[in-house]
Amino acid sequence: MKTILVVGGAGYIGSHMVKKLQAQQYRVIVLDNLSAGFVDAVIGGELLVGDLADKKALQQLFQEQQIDAVMHFAAHIQVGESNQRPDKYYDNNVVRTLNLLNAMVEAGVKRFIFSSTAAIFGEPQYVPIDEKHPQQPINTYGRTKLMLEHILQDYDRAFGLKSVCLRYFNAAGADPDGQLGERHDPETHLIPLVLQAAAGRRPAITVFGQDYDTPDGTCIRDYIHINDLCQAHLLALEQLLNGADSAAYNLGNGEGFSVKQVIDVAEEVTGLKIPVQMGERREGDPARLVADAQQARQALGWKPQYAELKTIIAHAWQWEQQYGKTVG
Ligand code: UDP
Repeated sequence: MKTILVVGGAGYIGSHMVKKLQAQQYRVIVLDNLSAGFVDAVIGGELLVGDLADKKALQQLFQEQQIDAVMHFAAHIQVGESNQRPDKYYDNNVVRTLNLLNAMVEAGVKRFIFSSTAAIFGEPQYVPIDEKHPQQPINTYGRTKLMLEHILQDYDRAFGLKSVCLRYFNAAGADPDGQLGERHDPETHLIPLVLQAAAGRRPAITVFGQDYDTPDGTCIRDYIHINDLCQAHLLALEQLLNGADSAAYNLGNGEGFSVKQVIDVAEEVTGLKIPVQMGERREGDPARLVADAQQARQALGWKPQYAELKTIIAHAWQWEQQYGKTVG
């Protein structure tokens, strides 16, 4: 049985990944500082509460446990905040991640799955965005992730550390079984906010800008179901464990939906009228982000199972209805 260390396994994507790994008979160790994660989201594996700033603890962890591969989900993810607090983002997303990589190198652990982002590409020069698209991030968040991609190339060359960088477009939805879902505090993502407005937990959803160069004037994004995202991680992990070389893939469905379309589909799924407010553009939002994920499909054999926006929103709604009740 292979042992996988999931850093940030108590968070949104990490917790779904832990569930999937367990279902595939991996032994899972979660390391999470609980700054954004939840103890009860770790529904399998062993939870160690700790921070990547603690180099000694990391060293000890790798000495005590026979770890075959590491998946890293413990990053700060808010674009706006990253511009205001570059110190926080460079510290967590770069410096602390480097601590993790150094502990891995020291212990001889040579397989790493990295959560990267469409934000490494910056303002799209064309869509859909493939792996060859120029990488010119326009915010601190994107720069921290691109730095790590470069660091990983160097660590492969120098230390033989093999990695797969997965550039997420818009991760969304929830565990189809209803056990897990998206919980951010504060929540900033469109689909959970729309559904909170539907449930009456928020007065309205504010649409950030309606004068973009898109058919209805609102921003277009490529939403990818959390389970499909985790499935791509699993396939990448299997390849690395079988001796594959380092790689980087864009992950999305290849289809874009505008903010207004998301709200329309959410009304259809919930059967409720969702109060909408028109607001200003949010700084740093490109008009259109859509992935070309052909390479992931070909190289990993990845096939999204829940590509329909309706299904993504239906699963998120199932979660909102049960989780929303517990938080009021
Ligand atoms: N958005 C919005 N209102 C909100 C939150 C998001 O109109 O309250 C828009 C946002 O401008 C973007 C899209 O929804 O065009 C997706 O935003 P989200 O924050 O979910 O993900 P991002 O694209 O920033 O990764």
